[in-house]
Amino acid sequence: MTRTTAVAPPTPAAHLIAGEWVGEGTVERRNPARPDEVVALAPLGTAATVRDAVAAATDAQPAWRSKTGPERGAVLTRAAELLTARTVLVAHDLVREEGKTLTEATGEVTRAADVLRFFGAVCRNADGLTLPAGTPDTLVYTRREPLGVVGVVTPWNFPIAIPAWKIAPALAAGNAVVAKPAQLTTLSMQHLAQCLLDAGLPAGVLNLVLGAGSVVGDSLVSHPDVAAVSFTGSGTVGAGIHTAVSARMARVQLEMGGKNPLVVLDDADPVRAAAIAASGAFGLTGQACTATSRVIATPGIHDALVEELARVAQSYTPGDGLESGTRMGAVVSEAQFAADQRFVETARREGGEIVAGSGATDGLFHPAVVVTGVEPDHTIAQEEVFGPVLAVLRADDLDHATAIANGVRYGLTAGIVSNDMRAVHRFVDQVEAGVVKVNRPTSGLELNVPFGGTKESSTNTYREQGQSALDFYSWTKSVYLGVD
Ligand code: NAD
Repeated sequence: MTRTTAVAPPTPAAHLIAGEWVGEGTVERRNPARPDEVVALAPLGTAATVRDAVAAATDAQPAWRSKTGPERGAVLTRAAELLTARTVLVAHDLVREEGKTLTEATGEVTRAADVLRFFGAVCRNADGLTLPAGTPDTLVYTRREPLGVVGVVTPWNFPIAIPAWKIAPALAAGNAVVAKPAQLTTLSMQHLAQCLLDAGLPAGVLNLVLGAGSVVGDSLVSHPDVAAVSFTGSGTVGAGIHTAVSARMARVQLEMGGKNPLVVLDDADPVRAAAIAASGAFGLTGQACTATSRVIATPGIHDALVEELARVAQSYTPGDGLESGTRMGAVVSEAQFAADQRFVETARREGGEIVAGSGATDGLFHPAVVVTGVEPDHTIAQEEVFGPVLAVLRADDLDHATAIANGVRYGLTAGIVSNDMRAVHRFVDQVEAGVVKVNRPTSGLELNVPFGGTKESSTNTYREQGQSALDFYSWTKSVYLGVD
């Protein structure tokens, strides 16, 4: 194993307000894989920081709105090129603050650049309808209008891709943004913002506020001048934000947790099915909202699949994401690591059998865990772990498997492994999930495809990603133009 970088000095993190990086770094972020390495020193924002950021955004928005679509698109496209050119640097910082592997981080930075590129092109392609008028000499058409200042609140697990897929459509639609990254991962969003500034984004159009969710996050979502809030994170925090934003009749979009099932039917190849399940469960250290957390297998394949899953799980050796050969990165924090361990212990206590990953742990390197003998009402079958822990359940047949799949409060992604097209169509029709994958891992999304969940995974009003992301960040004005 070789390290690809020497230990780097801590990077100052800062708020971005009216085009200036401000604030004194006081809060340490340490590399989860190398606890002796301080990665960033971030300032702790206050309600006053948020007020300054919202004021800067309010001042800057009218001029940004009045730019043409192609002018806004050119900034996004230039930012994409800059981010692409900085991929190595940004991906290393992302690994150091979040813990995932360098391959995963490089993929995420590339995704963020592609998202900027996509919305750069969308700016040249703004939609609107021309509609038949009931009176002569009248042109009826619709136009998209920006909302004004929007708030963006993001989690730590995709610290640059999620900010990109919220900020890019917000800017494309002509809004100004105040964004708040998770406290554990501030550098990635700073890199994104720096690319946009260097690409010519006017001062104040994008502002960042760093600090505690309960302080700066709460101030941001409660601010009367913030016309909309897009949030990704946990259900508990999301519910509070929904209450605060709805109370002032502003627009809110929440993307939250998942307990994503992968149904495996008798006709599947156990080796292929195990590879799909493991990729969804242990990729990104299981720290993805779309991670596979339940495998639901029918009787003819269950035992062969479990055997294969236990074998494949051993190959996901955890390690430092910057070491070549590491297949699974570190868990993001001590708190998350302890939560993962508690879930495994509870699963064992409730009757599950740990068939992989029961060995000793070291630092924040958690093994890939497979638990069998899980019943639908066990904690491990109901609650989101957000770590590399996979529960395996038995089902009698497809309909029983689908009922188990649907028997949770979440509905983000779901998968099925089978080439029985009749069964596949029935599953697609019956499963309660915003995204359904057939013979593919439940994780992994295309940036041009609408994304979001149902039930407690999502507000399920507006979708993120692709052209449909613009809907959240704009409203429709209908124009009747008489020409007599
Ligand atoms: P979290 O809810 O703890 O934090 C998310 C963000 O909200 C952070 O920036 C945090 O500082 C902020 N926040 C906390 N309290 C706040 C408050 N009172 N007011 C305003 N903002 C506040 O989530 P996390 O631990 O960072 O991320 C993990 C969660 O995110 C998991 O549940 C996961 O499923 C979810 N997630 C969902 C998706 C999706 O698209 N559905 C994607 C990634 C992660």
